[in-house]
Amino acid sequence: QDAAGTSPLAFTVDPDVARRTDEERAQILGAPGFGKHFTDHMVTATWTLDRGWHDAGVRAFGPITLSPAAAVLHYAQEVFEGLKAYRHDDGSVWSFRPEANAARFARSARRLALPQLPEADFLGSLEALVRADVDWVPSGGEASLYLRPFMFASEEFLGVRPAHTVTYCLIASPAGSYFPGGVRPVSIWLTTDYTRAAPGGTGEAKCGGNYAASLAAQQEAIGHGCDQVCFVDATEHRWVEELGGMNLYFVHADGRLVTPSLTGTILEGVTRSSILTLAKELGHEVEERKVSVEEWRDGVASGDITEVLACGTAAVVTPLGRLAWDGGEVVMGEEPGETTMRIRSRLLDIQYGREADEHGWLRRL
Ligand code: PMP
Repeated sequence: QDAAGTSPLAFTVDPDVARRTDEERAQILGAPGFGKHFTDHMVTATWTLDRGWHDAGVRAFGPITLSPAAAVLHYAQEVFEGLKAYRHDDGSVWSFRPEANAARFARSARRLALPQLPEADFLGSLEALVRADVDWVPSGGEASLYLRPFMFASEEFLGVRPAHTVTYCLIASPAGSYFPGGVRPVSIWLTTDYTRAAPGGTGEAKCGGNYAASLAAQQEAIGHGCDQVCFVDATEHRWVEELGGMNLYFVHADGRLVTPSLTGTILEGVTRSSILTLAKELGHEVEERKVSVEEWRDGVASGDITEVLACGTAAVVTPLGRLAWDGGEVVMGEEPGETTMRIRSRLLDIQYGREADEHGWLRRL
């Protein structure tokens, strides 16, 4: 459902937005954590069935007025994205493959019967916000400005049908290094009580409902002393899919890297896709195929699988140290694996401009 609207949208900046002082900002950027602090501005734009996209602007970050009957609050018609802005040593600010996020945002929107935001407008909104809040992009270490585009059904209507009024919004949050004390392997709980996504469902869309459905499983993982939960397929309960917010790679003793294939029920990660390319360049054979729970358990036990890594925008590449399930566990390792760390550094070096961007993955903001 796409009316034409005006594209590209002009993201007009409100000149009257109150900015926090240099001291206030410096204090936050000194210890930003993740997802706790937000920049001075945000982007909003409106879509209506009759006018398409319009009324785009960069305004003060703050509460959004919403009718209690807004469809999103009842039927969860919502999609979102997550990507980062990185500050290079020369002060310039870059995003990493934002076109891939724009495309995934459009695919997610289609699945949730939301209007698609044209790529030019998605990219335009990132540029407009980062320009307004450029002082909020941290420098040094693995710090970044996390960008969160999202879109939701804001129409005041309780009928169950795609909304005729939709709001696009982009907010930004300074993020510190995910592993401030150095990279440490995390432990994983394999849930058999819960599944995340079924064939024909919304697993490959980045919609809030998927994350709501993952929370009880995440609680179960914490209850079993694990950091994160791993989901298996909903039909046979046998095939490894992904973590709550990261894709998986298995490193084999012969150097092969194996990642679960895109079956329609897992999210197609930008990091996953980038590692497919980088691992080949680093001399690894890479396979996208089904991986069973038995292969994981037996492979680690026999030594055929030497490392398991999780990947996603927030934590880049994370080593998995232990897999536990109802009745047992296998230990991959107490220390991060060599291949995991090599891939991690390669990716970070590209993102932070320490290595040439041979793939054209960086886009200046
Ligand atoms: N799977 C899920 C369920 C996720 O939420 C994410 C984070 N977007 C990923 C995988 C990794 O995707 P990306 O590399 O694009 O961040």
